[in-house]
Amino acid sequence: MVNGSANPAAGRLTIAGLGPGALAQVTPEVAAALQHATDVVGYLPYVARAQALWQQAGAAQPVAWHASDNRVELDRAQQALALAAQGRQVVVVSSGDPGVFAMASAVFEAMEHAAPATSAAWQALDVQVLPGITAMLAAAARAGAPLGHDFCCINLSDNLKPWPVISQRVRLAAEADFAMAFYNPRSRSRPEGFVRLLELLRAHCEPGRLLVFARAVSTPDEQLTVCTLAEAAPEMADMRTVVLVGNSTTRRVGRFTYTPRFYGVPADTSSLGSTP
Ligand code: SAH
Repeated sequence: MVNGSANPAAGRLTIAGLGPGALAQVTPEVAAALQHATDVVGYLPYVARAQALWQQAGAAQPVAWHASDNRVELDRAQQALALAAQGRQVVVVSSGDPGVFAMASAVFEAMEHAAPATSAAWQALDVQVLPGITAMLAAAARAGAPLGHDFCCINLSDNLKPWPVISQRVRLAAEADFAMAFYNPRSRSRPEGFVRLLELLRAHCEPGRLLVFARAVSTPDEQLTVCTLAEAAPEMADMRTVVLVGNSTTRRVGRFTYTPRFYGVPADTSSLGSTP
């Protein structure tokens, strides 16, 4: 058996996705988990978002809020596991989906590398991962349907993997004509990564390839820019932006950007959906 049953006397650890920003895009399941929490653990802005949600619901039970800096995922995961092992109802919050470049992997990593004294107790915990709307899907929905055919998703943060791995993945994805979504495209500490990405895309895709720069989707700061690869500039992206790159068939209709469901369909699709 892979999934052992949890010890009911122990606490619970819920790893929840808060969606891209708007409270309306938080799933009811995640909102309910926050109502039952005794402790909420996460990066400061996400804990603040969870607090707003908790207040909106008029939760009766007091919560201990454990907000930390962005760079301490593993410490945060260990703290959450330790609290749950003490019998607390712990919710770890991530933006978007917790399994997409976020806390769910960090928690399982902490569980795997636990000290022998805590390892069995942590593995016996009741752990649940609650999905959320990830940034690329919120962005794609705003733009139309640019990810409507096969696509892949790449984190440009090279803290977590070396640049040659990123560049190989981008090159092969472009060669296979996947649409692509890029997370963490550009930070102040490493502005050169996105410059290199644009160079790489220009080497493998035609200049008319469509890109969507979706910034702070579903928040009051939301900004959507659609342009061609030839027009794209590094300053269009920052750490609050997810960048979508269409495949070779991605096109515009009116103000929408979409990728046809059928690959290789010629541009004239006027007969689609018509009654013969
Ligand atoms: N777990 C998150 C991703 C965390 S990585 C998720 O599933 O969405 C952080 C990156 O996500 C940011 O650098 C940005 O690329 C993207 N992102 C998160 N929220 C966003 C939003 N509201 N609008 C655009 N991009 C967003």
